[in-house]
Amino acid sequence: MGTLLLKNIHTLATMDSQRRELSDASIYIQDNVITAVGQLDDMPSPTADTVLDMSNYVVMPGLINTHHHMYQSLTRVLAQDSELFDWLTTLYPIWSRLRSQHIYVSAKLAMAELMLSGCTTSSDHLYIFPNDVQLEDEIRAAEEIGMRFHAARGAMSLGESKGGLPPDSVVEDEKAILKDTQRVIETFHNADRYAMLRVVVAPCSPFSVTVDLMRESADLARAYGVHLHTHLAENEKDIDFSLETFNQRPGDYAESVGWVGDDVWHAHCVKLNDDEIKQFAHTRTGVCHCPSSNMRLASGIAPIRQMLDHNVKVGLGVDGSASNDAGHLLNEARQAMLLQRVGGNPAGLSAREALELATVGSASVLGRDDVGVIAEGMSADIIAYRLDTVGFAGTLHDPVAGLLFGQSSLVDLSIINGKIVVQDGQLLTVDLPVLIEEHNKLSQQLINGDD
Ligand SMILES: [Zn+2]
Repeated sequence: MGTLLLKNIHTLATMDSQRRELSDASIYIQDNVITAVGQLDDMPSPTADTVLDMSNYVVMPGLINTHHHMYQSLTRVLAQDSELFDWLTTLYPIWSRLRSQHIYVSAKLAMAELMLSGCTTSSDHLYIFPNDVQLEDEIRAAEEIGMRFHAARGAMSLGESKGGLPPDSVVEDEKAILKDTQRVIETFHNADRYAMLRVVVAPCSPFSVTVDLMRESADLARAYGVHLHTHLAENEKDIDFSLETFNQRPGDYAESVGWVGDDVWHAHCVKLNDDEIKQFAHTRTGVCHCPSSNMRLASGIAPIRQMLDHNVKVGLGVDGSASNDAGHLLNEARQAMLLQRVGGNPAGLSAREALELATVGSASVLGRDDVGVIAEGMSADIIAYRLDTVGFAGTLHDPVAGLLFGQSSLVDLSIINGKIVVQDGQLLTVDLPVLIEEHNKLSQQLINGDD
């Protein structure tokens, strides 16, 4: 891949341990790794195979998305005014018609949307496997489009007839779930530094799987050293279900089935109480905050300020495409910043804290120390935004804050694993108009129930 030099950077937000923000800075990349950061004199060479002048750009580490359901791009703007459980029961019958091609095309569409919004690493929680659907459908999409990817093998096993929420037609047999999860770990998981693909074990939620599956999934994940992910404490009904079914709050339930620890992250956690926040802090259990989805479904405001004050690991996620319904990760950081202020604290979350959630915070919940920071030895995952645009006008004295306080821009440049994937605002790794047309055809067929 050779060498790449970004020079004359107007403003570089490194997100390193000192949170340095540099002016007139340079970054040197050898193949897929950053080898130098600083002034041009600090670079190993004043030139490289490719040299980009960045005097008109704000540059930062690529953003990291820790919760998504990419297939939901096919079923956006449905159940527009429902809360979570009603929203789910409206959508499950439509999702029961999903096939392999739907997963592949919708994942690629969702990844394109994420990459254009600044995301360079994403997890996806695929928890519905009807017909011929397999995890590799979305793995193929990630490989082709060039996104760093954590594929979470989700599952639902507790159908309506057994007291769960989903219809029996979309749940799987638990032995088959565990067998297939083991298969995808053995086939695809890469534990190496700079890995482009990792696998995560991810039963969907306490209201759609059994206690046994939660326990056995935790054992399986730990046998292979892979991470665990699920939904937790999303809204009041979720808490009610936990109390009625397990006679436990979500934190106690999670602990009782082995779902706390440095290798676990839970999506939402809107309703964690003070004791649970302390429990998550001392067990190093991670949280993925999904502000737009929490607002869309009226779930509530997650206590992110308290979590950060207690040193809970918190990352950011757009959540599924049908409950956001936008996969714009920079905008999600903006929503996080604004939502923590609702209720009276204008310093509830600063712009820089929101960017931390989307970079170093997300990296920590995914268990990675090679992304989310621009520093020597880190993956070359870098994004840049032009500053001579209407959205940045008037912010040049603090363009890092302008990223969040101003309109949510799309990236002009994105580099993933040392490869330029977006240049001049154009995604180079996919024919986007063709992809959108194919996606919309499949979406219409799925929603209309046509084969
Ligand atoms: Zn979700």
